[in-house]
Amino acid sequence: MVNVIVVAGAGVSGLTSALLLSRSKANKVTVVAKHMPGDYDIEYASPWAGANVLPMAEDENSRWERRTWPELKRLTEEVPEAGIHFQKARVYRRLKDEAAPGYHPADPLFSANPWYKSVLPDYRELNQDEVIPGHDSGCEFMSVCINTAVYLPWLVGQCLKNGVVFKRVVLTSIREAKTLSHTGQPANIIINATALGSLKLGGVEDTTMTPARGQVVVVRNEHHPMVATSGTDDSSTEMTYIMQRAAGGGTILGGTYDLGNWESIPDPNIAIRIMKRAVQTAPGLTGGKGIEGLSVIRHGVGLRPYRKNGVRIEEEILDEQTSIVHNYGHAGWGYQGSYGCGERVVELVNEIRKRKGEDQSRHDLLLHDLSFHLSISLKQ
Ligand SMILES: Cc1cc2nc3c(=O)[nH]c(=O)nc-3n(C[C@H](O)[C@H](O)[C@H](O)COP(=O)(O)OP(=O)(O)OC[C@H]3O[C@@H](n4cnc5c(N)ncnc54)[C@H](O)[C@@H]3O)c2cc1C
Repeated sequence: MVNVIVVAGAGVSGLTSALLLSRSKANKVTVVAKHMPGDYDIEYASPWAGANVLPMAEDENSRWERRTWPELKRLTEEVPEAGIHFQKARVYRRLKDEAAPGYHPADPLFSANPWYKSVLPDYRELNQDEVIPGHDSGCEFMSVCINTAVYLPWLVGQCLKNGVVFKRVVLTSIREAKTLSHTGQPANIIINATALGSLKLGGVEDTTMTPARGQVVVVRNEHHPMVATSGTDDSSTEMTYIMQRAAGGGTILGGTYDLGNWESIPDPNIAIRIMKRAVQTAPGLTGGKGIEGLSVIRHGVGLRPYRKNGVRIEEEILDEQTSIVHNYGHAGWGYQGSYGCGERVVELVNEIRKRKGEDQSRHDLLLHDLSFHLSISLKQ
């Protein structure tokens, strides 16, 4: 049985799902999306990401990130054209942030005994003299930084090589995807990877989706290692992180994590605070020249697709013929969880295929029995 699959969404979640599915000849995959790699739009989170691996999940939900790391590591080592490089990460903690009230998006990252210390290479606690002023402790480990402007088109290329067909479509309802396969046949599986689009998309309308606004400044200045701190004194919605993208992609200075804020225009006051915190945390960025020494490429805003109860990866039956497999709501970890989530999508698709295959055999058997009984009774 051949699966006719339509993937809705061409961000990192849709593209990774499409790539993994297209590795099986049993799947005929079409990707339909409003935005594609090359676009910069507030409704499209993926190009705006750093993107690095700084684990954010609690241990019990760490499957997606655990299962993604080996593939990102392999790509970094073996596939230079994917636009990913290794970068050491330094994470600095302040005791006062542990006690800070309210939600903090990356708490597990700042745990003193994190699950990821056995997953990411070269993990070690920093010596006290390596901890930057104003912080109480820290750790270091090997991570990667992805140049999204290279990586997303690379994913498209890998999909094309496997026969995936891409179409620009604005869906008003997820049901419309059923009729959009390039094969001309109705899709028996739809992958919903529309991220924040799932809030308004007919047939999904997931009201637990909301943006976690992220403002960044992209600069030409180089900096190693990557840096993230557990909090700032500026606001509970502001963060400090620095990461240098692979292959000349510039260095991302972040940022903010502002739930429920849809504003697409960079706020100049926030931008100044981001730059100030960056040079304070890493004076080497500008050789001690302060923010005047930064060479800005652009200011940007992306909306992380946050879902109140976490990512949704599950099957929903649309009708007798077609199932939807949802893969949306990755908030700030869509890249670092992409292969783990894509792997689950493939598992679900295989389960559906097996079930439908069994249903088909039962149906065929029933037809066979029926015609046998019919021929006997006709003979009598
Ligand atoms: C500033 C910032 C920094 C980040 N840093 C990191 C990081 O360091 N590491 C990391 O792992 N993650 C990071 N993230 C998070 C990451 O960017 C997201 O988790 C990820 O991009 C989500 O990908 P997605 O494919 O689910 O969604 P998107 O990239 O938003 O793609 C959604 C797709 O669905 C399509 N779509 C939506 N609605 C419709 C419709 N009605 N009809 C047709 N198509 C539709 C869109 O056009 C698009 O193609 C960051 C995000 C931001 C904003």
